[in-house]
Amino acid sequence: MSDVDPELTQLDCSAVIADVWLLLDNECDQNARERLQGHLDSCPSCLAHYGIEQQLKALVNRKCGGDQAPQSLRDRLRIEIRKTVIVHEVSESDR
Ligand SMILES: [Zn+2]
Repeated sequence: MSDVDPELTQLDCSAVIADVWLLLDNECDQNARERLQGHLDSCPSCLAHYGIEQQLKALVNRKCGGDQAPQSLRDRLRIEIRKTVIVHEVSESDR
């Protein structure tokens, strides 16, 4: 149920995954946070597709709201991101 050009969103979405890593590692990177929130607004389907949209929104809010992300959330996000990166690599070498 999306009329977004899949090729355009894919480029964007790989950059978003890189930003998620930044945010996990740097606790509160203001630039990464702004890019992530902007992307969530313009491309809500991609993170929902990965199954990490809700976790990521919570993480973005927590990180810069003074709270630590719970270890379970960090672990889950790392696993989901790693899966996503692997899927992208496989589908690209498959072309
Ligand atoms: Zn996206």
